[in-house]
Amino acid sequence: MTAHRQSQESDGSTTDEWEKVAARCRDCGAIYSAWVLADETVQPIGRKDGCRCGTAEFEALSR
Ligand SMILES: [Zn+2]
Repeated sequence: MTAHRQSQESDGSTTDEWEKVAARCRDCGAIYSAWVLADETVQPIGRKDGCRCGTAEFEALSR
């Protein structure tokens, strides 16, 4: 898995399409601040490895 959190010059994508949301872990229910990327991937901010429980799937609570 490749992270491009700070890339603003490599592939033409912009952070303008990212939305900051609250996200909930699908497994343990922990809540994180997260980005929703242009492809609707939910990425917790500051937790590139995913949830503390090891799950990397999150549900956006608000958009
Ligand atoms: Zn979890």
